[in-house]
Amino acid sequence: MIGKLSSADFAVLGGKPLFERPRSTSSLYRPDIEKFLEYSKVFYEARQFTNRGPLVQELERRLAEFHGTRHCVSFCSGFWALVLTIRCLALPGRTEIVMPSLTYRRMADVAAWAGLTPHFCDVDAQSMALSPETVRPHLNDKTALIMAVHPIVNCCDASGLEALSAETGVPLMFDAVESVYEYLDGRKVGSFGIAECFSMHASKLLNGFEGGYVTTNDPELANRLMLMRGFGFSGQDNVEELGLNAKLNEVHAAMALAALDELEVLVGDNRARYRSYQVGLKEISGIRLVEFDEAEQSGYKIILVELLDDWPLSREQTLKLLNAENILARAYYAPPLHRKRTEYETISGTLPVTESLAERFMLLPCGHLVSEDDINRISLLLRFVQENATDLRGRLDRELP
Ligand SMILES: *Cc1c(COP(=O)(O)O)cnc(C)c1O
Repeated sequence: MIGKLSSADFAVLGGKPLFERPRSTSSLYRPDIEKFLEYSKVFYEARQFTNRGPLVQELERRLAEFHGTRHCVSFCSGFWALVLTIRCLALPGRTEIVMPSLTYRRMADVAAWAGLTPHFCDVDAQSMALSPETVRPHLNDKTALIMAVHPIVNCCDASGLEALSAETGVPLMFDAVESVYEYLDGRKVGSFGIAECFSMHASKLLNGFEGGYVTTNDPELANRLMLMRGFGFSGQDNVEELGLNAKLNEVHAAMALAALDELEVLVGDNRARYRSYQVGLKEISGIRLVEFDEAEQSGYKIILVELLDDWPLSREQTLKLLNAENILARAYYAPPLHRKRTEYETISGTLPVTESLAERFMLLPCGHLVSEDDINRISLLLRFVQENATDLRGRLDRELP
């Protein structure tokens, strides 16, 4: 079924790739085109293409309802949603933002654009996310804000972080890009902290081509964010805030609305893919699938695995081997942010858990374009790697030193 009889048949050693077309880790969900066009007619006929047109308003209303918050403010990207929210929430006169190092690749850049210095904290070994215990040692009299990031599987200890924020007076916001559909302690993600930020990039759960949004129960914050995303104008020429153009346009809102209509279908398909991986990877002793907490609701968007001590290859060798097969597996958040060189200052102590986790995890293909049959073949290939480990490792060491 995978067309390989010996380790010489691996594509990395000159064999034929398992897949002709790459299988990636991006969601790339494509809603029904008729639905997308139907939404698009609304703004097209009204000739309002941007500047909080009818579809942006409808999308914001529906997303606020979906997350159970009073307000939702949309943006041209998740990145600018984060930057502007940080600017609104940071305590004045303070300069540092505490954030995990094992996280979204551009998170430190987000902080730099917002004018703050990233101060990296460690993560909890179980949740792979920051926690009250990992944040606390990094709080000081320069701390302006805590940037909590929900990990890609399950959520961080949001209630514990809220308690830490209440105790210390340092405001708390969330990057909830990976948790659009998640519940935590029976509460929908979206209303934790002062605000939560989401992305609608095509690779994420809710595809708006590009886009982002912020959910909050704070009306003043919502108003300020709306001003800032549109040049800081309030009224005709009355510039009240340092603004920039970070608005979502109508055609992106049309796509996001069409995708939102079908979100349940996508999550159902994601769950089926996750089940196939659960079955396929179960018998492979060197690979552990990071499991979703089924007591809570999840979007099952991403497949994350840990390579255990009895897995025969290094992660880098494994990625090379899989990528040659057109299985576009990727290292999970590696290198961590505190290991990267940046043109701005960052602060970091020793982060032992981050260091160790950053070496061992990878993402496997998932999303709209990956079938259950693909997943069976990927699982069989991984099993074949393990069964041929000794021979394969010898060849890899010789030919790919
Ligand atoms: C993708 C992503 C973002 C940025 O969103 P964009 O819409 O691509 O700007 C932020 N945080 C996390 C965790 C992400 O995965």
